Amino acid sequence: MSLQTRILGLIAGLLFAASGASWLAYQQLSQHLVQRLGQQVAEVQVRYDSARLVQSLEREISLARQMANAPAMIRWAQQPGNPLLKAKALGQLEDFRANVTDKSYFVALRENRQYYYNEENSGADAPIQYALNPDNPDHGWFDKLIREGRELSLDVNHDIELGITRLWVDVLMKDENDRVLGVMGTGLKLDTLLEDIGDVSERGLTTLFVNYNGTIELYRQRNYLDVARLMGSEPEATVDVLFEAPEDKQQILGMLQMLKQRTDADGEVESGLVTVDGRTQLASAAYLPAIGWFEVTLLDLETLLPRSYLWPLIAVFLSSFLLSLVVLQLVIRSRILKPIVTLEGAVKKVREGSFELPRLDKPDNEIGRLADHFEKMTHALEQSNRELERKVAARTDELTRLARIDPLTGLKNRRGLDEVMEEEIERAKRQGTGFGILWLDIDHFKTINDQHGHQIGDEILCRVSLWLKVGVRPYDHPGRWGGDEFVVVLSPCDGQTLEQIAARIRLLVEQESRKTGLAVTVSVGGYLCQPDDNCDRILRQADRALYQAKEKGRNTVCISGADDEDTVVVE
Ligand code: GH3
Ligand code: MG
Repeated sequence: MSLQTRILGLIAGLLFAASGASWLAYQQLSQHLVQRLGQQVAEVQVRYDSARLVQSLEREISLARQMANAPAMIRWAQQPGNPLLKAKALGQLEDFRANVTDKSYFVALRENRQYYYNEENSGADAPIQYALNPDNPDHGWFDKLIREGRELSLDVNHDIELGITRLWVDVLMKDENDRVLGVMGTGLKLDTLLEDIGDVSERGLTTLFVNYNGTIELYRQRNYLDVARLMGSEPEATVDVLFEAPEDKQQILGMLQMLKQRTDADGEVESGLVTVDGRTQLASAAYLPAIGWFEVTLLDLETLLPRSYLWPLIAVFLSSFLLSLVVLQLVIRSRILKPIVTLEGAVKKVREGSFELPRLDKPDNEIGRLADHFEKMTHALEQSNRELERKVAARTDELTRLARIDPLTGLKNRRGLDEVMEEEIERAKRQGTGFGILWLDIDHFKTINDQHGHQIGDEILCRVSLWLKVGVRPYDHPGRWGGDEFVVVLSPCDGQTLEQIAARIRLLVEQESRKTGLAVTVSVGGYLCQPDDNCDRILRQADRALYQAKEKGRNTVCISGADDEDTVVVE
């Protein structure tokens, strides 16, 4: 896998991990916010409903108070048996009934414990009437209200005798001495009352009114939630029928239980998350003390923060994610990979021995600095390499030269002389000209060594070399063949020159050595080489001439002719 793929993969993985973590944090935060918001919505809803409830009852209460204080009512209550007073009171009650919302009234007189009730459907002059039995618990409300002595009470109650449930507005009737004469008021049907509270068309919000026992009494159909169907499936359905999960059922009933236990639960809201029809909802419950019921709201959280709101966020995230990857890829390629690849190519070239570097990419980072160091290092290496090569060449030249030099005399040695002779043979063949060769041997050198020591012998060798150099021309090649033998290659040369130089050398050695106090002579054999001569023949001819010179008594020059027998002594 390439470095680029690895780096991009790693970065993409890290970005994904970071965005996953951010997404989880966002989910937590948004859920928390939505829950808080939902709770506030539910609280506002409950307060709003409570306020509307009191508002709609205000008129009923004021009418009932007015009626309870009417003189005709007071008088009748004081003398219930008086038919005239009764007729007048009932007449006024009919007027009262016509004005109240649900067209109903009730009166319960303390004096004769009689209860009168009339509503729209019954005849005006014939209210329903029954006696309130103090031993009947269903009639207990009457004595309770009198006992409590509150001027006004609101009470949801089912009247067994009448077979109806109403929100009863109860007002005490009192005489001038503040003695309670009875109770009167009106009954409000709860559904019309709730209609009166008003419909709040909040999308995603369902409101249910649940009685003290948790039974759904009324609901406002606001959205998809088919409460009617659910309730229809179970008569006297309790609020938990709305939920499928047992823990949700338990939660809602627990919420009601908690509100019941709190005496000061007025306006307080309990809430929790539930699932209805596969959607998460915030269920909130509050107690409505005015009617003794609970109001349960179900708020679809999706409507508070619809998922569709997230799409732009996701689109922005994805496009910036892709853009970041593209930018990263470009940056990695230009700032890291390309410089590394060119540097790798350069390293390979140097490894193969070439110092011709390609143009290196040097971005302003560690890789750029590395490339710069490498370039400088390569230049330094190239220079030291050149210097080394130069030194090796010089040393090789020196060694070559030394290999051809005689260490004692500094003249050419045998190898050096061989090379010169080869060159001269070649040149002679090429140009059709000859060259001369002299072979010298110190006379009685063994004796000199024996008499004066080897060191003096060496000195003699060096002196002879010096005189040899002086005796030849600058372009001739004198050399030490070995022992006390010397060879001189003379080029160009003719017979006369050969003889002259040979004689000169012999004389020079004789004369100069005499000056030193230790006379030394040399025998010289010479040969003028022909263009078709080879090295062996040349040396052999010179050697033969030298032998002749020794034969002739030493300190002599003999020149060998081309013919083997032909040797001339030079005087
Ligand atoms: P001849 O006149 O016949 O040449 O007699 P010679 O005594 O010179 O005999 P020859 O040339 O055969 O002897 C050469 C001697 O040179 C033998 C050896 O001891 C001596 N010699 C050879 N090389 C060296 C050297 O490097 N230094 C010294 N001191 N003596 C050398
Ligand atoms: Mg000798």
